[in-house]
Amino acid sequence: MEEERPYWNMEMEPILNTPQMREIQLAKLRKLLQRLYDSAPFYTRQFDELGVRPEKIKSFEDFSRAVPLFDKERLRAMVVEFGGDILKVIDQIIPVSVDDLMIMATTTGTTGVPTPYPMTQRDMEEVWGEAMVRGAWRAGVRSRDRVLFCFALSMVIAGIPTMMGMRKLGAMAIPVGAEAGTDRILLMQTLFRGTVYSGTPSLAEYLIEKCREQGRDPKDLGFRLLMCGGEPGAGIPEVRERLESAYGCRVFDAGAGFGFSCDHEEYQGMHWTADDLAYYELVDPETKEPVPLEDGAEGEALFTVMEGDGMAWLRTSLGDIHQVFVSPCPCGRTGFRYKVVGRTDDMLKVKGVIVYPSMVEGVVSSFVPRVTGQFRIVLTEKPPRVVPPLKIKIERGEEFPAEKLSELEAEMKEAFHARAKFTPEIIWAEPGELQRSTYKGQVFERLYEQQ
Ligand SMILES: [Zn+2]
Repeated sequence: MEEERPYWNMEMEPILNTPQMREIQLAKLRKLLQRLYDSAPFYTRQFDELGVRPEKIKSFEDFSRAVPLFDKERLRAMVVEFGGDILKVIDQIIPVSVDDLMIMATTTGTTGVPTPYPMTQRDMEEVWGEAMVRGAWRAGVRSRDRVLFCFALSMVIAGIPTMMGMRKLGAMAIPVGAEAGTDRILLMQTLFRGTVYSGTPSLAEYLIEKCREQGRDPKDLGFRLLMCGGEPGAGIPEVRERLESAYGCRVFDAGAGFGFSCDHEEYQGMHWTADDLAYYELVDPETKEPVPLEDGAEGEALFTVMEGDGMAWLRTSLGDIHQVFVSPCPCGRTGFRYKVVGRTDDMLKVKGVIVYPSMVEGVVSSFVPRVTGQFRIVLTEKPPRVVPPLKIKIERGEEFPAEKLSELEAEMKEAFHARAKFTPEIIWAEPGELQRSTYKGQVFERLYEQQ
């Protein structure tokens, strides 16, 4: 019998988000600054140029004021500077040698250079793996479980690094990967009966359709819980509800940092479970000025992995916009919480109103089954500015009569106006017309790129 305890890490997790933890963080942060200054050429140069002296950084405020954030633009500029040699770039920003790295995961890189996540064994086990295990443990995953890994196993950090990092939990890994396609995923699940699904929510939704096409009930797949991530779907109440009722089990939301949703009945955001591993900040997405962490505050999330080697980048932005909640969660578990509101590069401005695709998804999802839930935001000009009305292509539901569409359209426009503060133009699509994806759901149709 496995020992039952509330947290995987009983030393650190009980003191998350406390003054005691702040002291630990500040000490680790100062140590990291010195280490990077001494051993990462990029930071030696940058600190010297900016006059930053690691020993002079005595508070979190000093840190935020002195150290610029590191985002995709900065990475891109460095890749150009080093003649396209990304390994040389990485050698500049990490405090160990590229030769010490064990695995190179990246983002999918749909636009330009994929963002690399270089990891040493220590990064994978003590940072990434540790954080993943903390979340999985809270969700109830134990060594007797079998985890069906359905994230793309190539590239993405949620794929192989998570699978390898979670070894210490002792659950059985069934690596199948989104690349295998839905038929293969369903076959593997039928054969090896995973108890835990690990993958994107859009793939989980697609599997429901596929299952039903084969005349099967998704409940019979036998999942005990779904650990979703890679995109915001599992944090959207309607999407989560649809997944939970189709699979007959709980759905947990993970990602966009070291965060995991809890088992409270109502979605409370993701608990940040890694204060001792990574320092978390919010900044204004436009001015990059610090945003204080208080209930309801929104901003671009920055991470500084303090225990990292390859992941030890200062104030790194993954381009996500978060809303944070620092008051205790009704679930009773530790860690402040955050919800992913959108992405800096997905942000649209419709006549001054900020719109994120997740808001559109929330409204569209609330109309299922009258619509299928599939949609595309049609952009005729390069975002973020959109000349109203914003055009949204929506699939009508399988059973929904075409002659009632104008009625539904009026109702949906009203819902958009009430919940997202803009009125879109709706373009109707036939059920099944929009292409499904086994990886990340596509939300934009970029007409301006085809002209
Ligand atoms: Zn909670």
